[in-house]
Amino acid sequence: MRTETPVSVQLSDYKPYPFEIEQVNLRFDLDPDATKVRSELKVRRTGGAGDALVLDGEGLTLRSISIDGQALDASCYEQTDKALIIASVPDVFTLVTEVEIAPSQNTALSGLYMSGGRFCTQCESTGFRRITFYPDRPDVMSAFHVWMAADKATYPILLSNGTPGETGELDDGRHYAVWDDPHKKPSYLFALCAGDYDVYRDSFTTMNGDEIALAIHVDKGDADRAAWAMDSLKRSMTWDEQTYGRAYDLGVFNIVAVRDFNFGAMENKGLNVFNSAYVLADEATATDADFEAIESIVAHEYFHNWTGNRITCRDWFQLCLKEGLTVFRDQNFSADMRSRPVQRIKDVIRLRARQFAEDAGPLAHSVRPDHYGSIDNLYTATVYEKGAELIGMLRRMIGEELYRKGMDLYFERHDGQAVTIEDFYKCFEDVTGEDFTQFRLWYAQAGTPEVTVEENWKPETREIEITLKQKTPPTPGQPVKKPVPIPLEMALLDEEGNLAEWTTILEDEDVTLTMEMPDTVTEPPLVSVNRDFTAPIRLNRSLTREQRLAMVRMETDPFNQWDAVQTLVKDEILALSEGSQAEPDDALVTALAGAVEQAVDDPAFAALLTRLPEVGEMFLERQPADAVALNAARKKLQSALAAKLSGFSAETLGKPTPAPFDPGAEQAGIRALRTAMIVLLGVSPDAGAADTLRGLYNNATNMTERLAALRAYTVQKGGKANEALADFEQTWKDNPLVMDKWFALQATTGDAETIKTLAAHPAFDLRNPNRVRSVVAAFTMQNLAAFHAPDGSGYQAVEEIILKADKANPALGARLLTAFEQWRILEPQAKAAAEATLKRLQSAGLSSNAADIVARALG
Ligand SMILES: [Zn+2]
Repeated sequence: MRTETPVSVQLSDYKPYPFEIEQVNLRFDLDPDATKVRSELKVRRTGGAGDALVLDGEGLTLRSISIDGQALDASCYEQTDKALIIASVPDVFTLVTEVEIAPSQNTALSGLYMSGGRFCTQCESTGFRRITFYPDRPDVMSAFHVWMAADKATYPILLSNGTPGETGELDDGRHYAVWDDPHKKPSYLFALCAGDYDVYRDSFTTMNGDEIALAIHVDKGDADRAAWAMDSLKRSMTWDEQTYGRAYDLGVFNIVAVRDFNFGAMENKGLNVFNSAYVLADEATATDADFEAIESIVAHEYFHNWTGNRITCRDWFQLCLKEGLTVFRDQNFSADMRSRPVQRIKDVIRLRARQFAEDAGPLAHSVRPDHYGSIDNLYTATVYEKGAELIGMLRRMIGEELYRKGMDLYFERHDGQAVTIEDFYKCFEDVTGEDFTQFRLWYAQAGTPEVTVEENWKPETREIEITLKQKTPPTPGQPVKKPVPIPLEMALLDEEGNLAEWTTILEDEDVTLTMEMPDTVTEPPLVSVNRDFTAPIRLNRSLTREQRLAMVRMETDPFNQWDAVQTLVKDEILALSEGSQAEPDDALVTALAGAVEQAVDDPAFAALLTRLPEVGEMFLERQPADAVALNAARKKLQSALAAKLSGFSAETLGKPTPAPFDPGAEQAGIRALRTAMIVLLGVSPDAGAADTLRGLYNNATNMTERLAALRAYTVQKGGKANEALADFEQTWKDNPLVMDKWFALQATTGDAETIKTLAAHPAFDLRNPNRVRSVVAAFTMQNLAAFHAPDGSGYQAVEEIILKADKANPALGARLLTAFEQWRILEPQAKAAAEATLKRLQSAGLSSNAADIVARALG
């Protein structure tokens, strides 16, 4: 097999489609090995008279083609491996094509495929062209009418977008159903599911008084485990009405849980398809993190109904228009459901770990790129997470009220359209009278801006002078950057609290602020910058350890207080990893333990304070990055903290866990602190820690604590916890989602040999993305010391698996390869081994998706 060279697509090449598709009528005769798809398109020319009709289509066997009832002669059209081209067509006509596809052979999980013996689809971004010939681009929006038939016994439930219509019986035990979607939509939002499911039903009355039938379709026997997803859905519907004034617009809302799925979930109009990991949960099988993820992903997909579906993207370069905005919406929903400061900290941890790393490496790209090699590779932390931060900055700069006015105008002006970032910002320009040209640079420039803060205290005049300077480092293809507007919430603090609070928008390269303090202030106040992480930037400050400790004590902003702790901890880990310090500083460990104990009334926050930065989060702090040394240093500090908190830990874990179980924020916070103590027991020097953990594992009444105890026990036993791991496997071998946790636990605590053992396990399945990720992604993203082992053993362990996964499923293969993005900043031995691996992969015949990632990584 030859490696395909990815062809670059340019934003500047955009041209509107020269035809309108007024109506789409689809007929599906479903069969796993030979599904027939008949498509009838009502077409009207909107472009030039000479324009040919070009339809996308991949892997389709064309059975017939006709225009206005007249079969087309083979000389009238051309079929390539990617398209169907009809050179000469009338201005208004009906095109009918019949194709055959084999869902059972579809391992890419894009288009129509089988999962667990059921039919399902995934069309974003370019899956619809694997179902039928169509202009498969988001700016072609049409009304879809679907007729589908299948064997009734095997596939009793037939679902598609919109509103259910007629159903009936056919010959040979088959039956049919009709679905009509009154809302015009692009093809990427098409969905079809057919199979035998258990259904969890409920209903919702909208603010307009409409009654909506809600249903979640799951595996047989799993219906009760969909209760939390349903509860999350109803809360999302209420929240979008109250916060954005948006109500649901169809009589039914269906969710289908699918085991084999490339993504988290998909927002198809009226028929969301979910990775079953983000639907099914109960206390025995799911952790609090699972419950939290389900709540936020259900909300995310639901919110897309307005930000994505009713108003969609003109082209895939505008992906952040729907994703950044919708992530921003789901983050705020979660913050309203739980603790706002804790949610903010978690969002920033994810942003820094994933997006900042992406921004600093060879795969860096802007939030709205101006070119791409492979569309599937655009679904990145930059588009999603940084895209969300940009909306957050917009809202801070113009205030809540104008933000809402701008959104209202956006919904009103662009409903039913496919639009651009410029269209979105025009709405905010119209409601504020301001110009967002400079702000939009955030969408065009890659890289994380660095803001340097310099302070100068003049005791004689009691003036503090604060100089802020911004600089964005060069990224691939963008050597020179312009200044961007950076909104910074700031404050001056002393022991009593806030002396002043304000927002500075740093628009130029630098700015100097001078503030005069009242007579009562004789000491230089502390400067608190980027409170609540108002802007997605890196801060450069040369503060002494004393100043940083004072920051931990005096900060009034919860985010900055947590961040002050993180900064101290990062410095300590660096010093330990570089050997400039042999043992953790006892004063620091005492201060850290003190902060945890003081925060006990907000247990979720206290738990976050015990969390030391992961090895990957340290990579950007000092380079070259030595994963092995950083991991050892981190463990040393963690172990010291465990010793210091041993009394507090015993007290926390000595209390009974909350019962009866409730997945809500209050109990989850208590369990988060208990779990944090369990994590520390895993590295505790205390001789009895292993026995304590074994006891906690045996007696746990929920998966959150059971899994944490098993993991910590495995760490405490140096990876040799075979008997406990076997017990867990025996208990859960029939539950694939729990078994994913079992695989991931070992992949994150073991070494290269562990990966080989797991890949040889009979339950390891290359065709199931969740299972592959639970081994490979868990290892490469959360076990960096073993993955970046200097002898290259970690790379070797995953190389073969990634190659095989890529052959079956290119989107999965490419995603796994992004783990190599930081290879250039590694210490010399690991760097050489990583480069050699990437070069071997490059010549091994990768899919075009994967080849795009490797080519960019090698640069
Ligand atoms: Zn989304």
